[in-house]
Amino acid sequence: MSSLTDLYQEINQCQQCEIAKHRTKTVPGEGFENADLMFIGEAPGWYEDQQGRPFVGPAGQFLDKLLTLINLNRSQVYIANVIKCRPHGNRDPLPTEIQNCHPYLVRQIEIIQPRVIITLGRYSMSLFFPGKSISKIHGTAMKQDNIIYYAMYHPAAALHQQSLRQIIETDMLKIPSLLTETIDVADIKPPPKQLSMF
Ligand code: URA
Repeated sequence: MSSLTDLYQEINQCQQCEIAKHRTKTVPGEGFENADLMFIGEAPGWYEDQQGRPFVGPAGQFLDKLLTLINLNRSQVYIANVIKCRPHGNRDPLPTEIQNCHPYLVRQIEIIQPRVIITLGRYSMSLFFPGKSISKIHGTAMKQDNIIYYAMYHPAAALHQQSLRQIIETDMLKIPSLLTETIDVADIKPPPKQLSMF
């Protein structure tokens, strides 16, 4: 059994948060185990909770379109979320939920060993770019310990605000140059893996 499968089993049994009682399915993540690109969203929504798969609702359909812009599909990348259970009524994740789920995300990153981590939305961004604002840093990258971190707006933002659609597409189109490192990538400190939002 792969270490990713072991991790999924642990996540499936996790009862640390109150939301575990209300979930239909956990949504651990999915994709290519050796992916260069790892996308990290916020939390499962209704569709994801039903299917146990990340980004399968309207925001996911837009993410699929964004991937085609760079000639990729879901099976070539890895997609995860900051938390693995759906918060009731699609509320924002609570700090305790993010904290409880964080070791799972760290292990996912260790297993996948992506070259580029793309944060989708502010919850994911604040894990790796603490204290930053998404409106200022979207479309920019930094590098730490051989991983490039790249911040993007959440795909759902384009569904609520049409003007963001073009911005998100433009940011997506920069991803291939991150892989070839033909784009500016700042070296950063402090280490992004620590949970500095708490
Ligand atoms: N939004 C997210 O952040 N993640 C999903 O899986 C779906 C919607």
